Amino acid sequence: AKEKGRGNFQFYNETMRLETERKHLVQQHLHLAIEAGEFSLVFQPQVNTQGDVIGAEALLRWHNAELGMVAPDEFIPLAEETGLIHKLGKWVFESSMETLVRFQEANNIHPDFKLAINVSSKQFRNLNIVSEVEHAIVSRGLSPNNVQIEITESLLIDNKDIAVRSMLKLQSLGVSIAIDDFGTGYSSLAYIANLPIDKLKIDRSFITDLHLKSTNRKLVDTLVNMSKSLHLEVIAEGVENKQERDVLIDLGCSQFQGYLFSRPVPADKLIKDFLA
Ligand code: C2E
Ligand code: CA
Ligand code: CA
Ligand code: CA
Repeated sequence: AKEKGRGNFQFYNETMRLETERKHLVQQHLHLAIEAGEFSLVFQPQVNTQGDVIGAEALLRWHNAELGMVAPDEFIPLAEETGLIHKLGKWVFESSMETLVRFQEANNIHPDFKLAINVSSKQFRNLNIVSEVEHAIVSRGLSPNNVQIEITESLLIDNKDIAVRSMLKLQSLGVSIAIDDFGTGYSSLAYIANLPIDKLKIDRSFITDLHLKSTNRKLVDTLVNMSKSLHLEVIAEGVENKQERDVLIDLGCSQFQGYLFSRPVPADKLIKDFLA
């Protein structure tokens, strides 16, 4: 047992060493990646029950020559740790708004189309965030009504007072606010009711196999009813098949996002396939 214990210890040590090495390597490349033009955005459509594209979510991609594609779930936490997230977040906003100009020029855009941008809780520590967002929108002659921000519940735990102040300012500009990954945190109905939000995004984990899992069905039913009683919009993310969509329609959810409709795609492809 002792031998095995030591063996395990060495194994974990080795794993930790590799993780630390990877982290350093990724961080080294990360702080050069904006200037090197290694980031890009892909866009995933959001649709209503008629299949109209009523919005899209911008998702960040990083391709580095040495590392290959690095997933946002890996590099976003590192960007937050080093503070690079502020510069990166600004880049995301500027590029998204450049793309929104192109979406607006397309023939077939929905009048209430919303481009949703992920903003992590750390970004709300930047007190200039509201003016940066406003500038990116207004300087291009865009309407804040076509812009949505996705935040997670953790923001409201870590950073509540500052965050709520910024959210109120964004809302007064006309930017709408969605709570991402909803249902995975600890927010109660009473808590959510008092916040400046417009939309709940039901987390993918509740949507997966919705047609097979009665617990998920009950949870989603509760979340949809909760949104309705608070007069919030509700969207389901991670919808992968028709069976899941049909249960959602049954439960009164009328906005969807997921592989069933489209993977996240480059702006050109979204325009060609959905907006042209
Ligand atoms: P998220 O905001 O919850 O984004 C949804 C994730 O689910 C995306 O992963 C998307 O590609 C994936 N997805 C969409 N539809 C389906 C589906 O039908 N099935 C499955 N299995 N997955 C689906 P992605 O692009 O890897 O992004 C991961 C996370 O990274 C995002 O989660 C978000 O938290 C973060 N992220 C991405 N872009 C940005 C950004 O520009 N800024 C910030 N702060 N975070 C970002
Ligand atoms: Ca999101
Ligand atoms: Ca999400
Ligand atoms: Ca997520």
